[in-house]
Formats: sequence, C-alpha cells, structure tokens
Amino acid sequence: MTNCPDEERCLHLLEVILDDESTPEAEQEYFEHIDQCWPCYQNYNLEKAIRKLIKSKIENKPVPDGLIKSIKREIEKITIE
Ligand SMILES: [Zn+2]
Repeated sequence: MTNCPDEERCLHLLEVILDDESTPEAEQEYFEHIDQCWPCYQNYNLEKAIRKLIKSKIENKPVPDGLIKSIKREIEKITIE
C-alpha cells in the first residue's frame, strides 16, 4: 500500500471538508486528489461513515443497517493492506 505524499495536508483538508468549513477550491483540490490517492480515498470514506454513526447516536436515531458493517470493512481494508 502506498502512502500519501502529502498526508498531513490531506488529513487537514478532510477534516475541514467534513466540518463544512472548506472553500469550493479546497474541496475541488481534495476530491481531485483522492481520485488518485487510494489511502486518502479510504480515509475519506471511513471518516464519513464514522461521523454518520456518531451523528445517529447523538440524535438518538437508530443506526442504519449496514453502517457499522461498512465501517468495519473499511477498517479491515486499511489494516490488511
Ligand atoms: Zn493523499
């Protein structure tokens, strides 16, 4: 598994984007990047799933079927590679 050449910056961008505090330019840059950067693409999907899970818990909504499974799958993918 190759590592991201710009991991710190990507993680920062990811957080800003998921917090809805990003600019359209930053989003475009990030999404163009994860198109070609597998570890960042995985990070993005995992973070998104985890946030969705936390939100459901906070709002006391039932956790959607399959969400926990998909998080586990993403984590397994990362640890296997
Ligand atoms: Zn990357």
